[in-house]
Amino acid sequence: MSRPETSAELSALYQELILDHYRRPRNKGTLENADASVEMKNPLCGDEICLQVVFEGASVCDLRFAGRGCSISQASASMMTQLVKGKSAEEIEAIRSRFRDLMLGDPSAADDKALGSLRALSGVARFPARVKCALLAWNALETALAERTG
Ligand code: ZN
Repeated sequence: MSRPETSAELSALYQELILDHYRRPRNKGTLENADASVEMKNPLCGDEICLQVVFEGASVCDLRFAGRGCSISQASASMMTQLVKGKSAEEIEAIRSRFRDLMLGDPSAADDKALGSLRALSGVARFPARVKCALLAWNALETALAERTG
């Protein structure tokens, strides 16, 4: 696919990507052998997530999420699971920190390839009330990682 030429095209592409993850979430479901299981809610919007993680050493071997909520919360969770699978806690922390930058409107984060499809959520920074929706899955993952490392 060629690089989008205008911000309107980029915005349309991002919107499409968010809806695609919302309609066909990746890694949605439950794991029987989870090492950590974290439930979290965003009462402001009504989003709910249950994140289950299987670790292998210091890395996330597998993970699934279940729950319901707005398109931003569900798409963010779906994109996150794709991006962090197989990565170490340290690598995940670096991505999480960068994603926070993106949610705070940092323009350099919007160009950071390390964020992968999560860059599609860059527009959320303009709507502070929705930032909590986008961060819900990441907060659950942070808790799961903390449970793992003690
Ligand atoms: Zn929401």
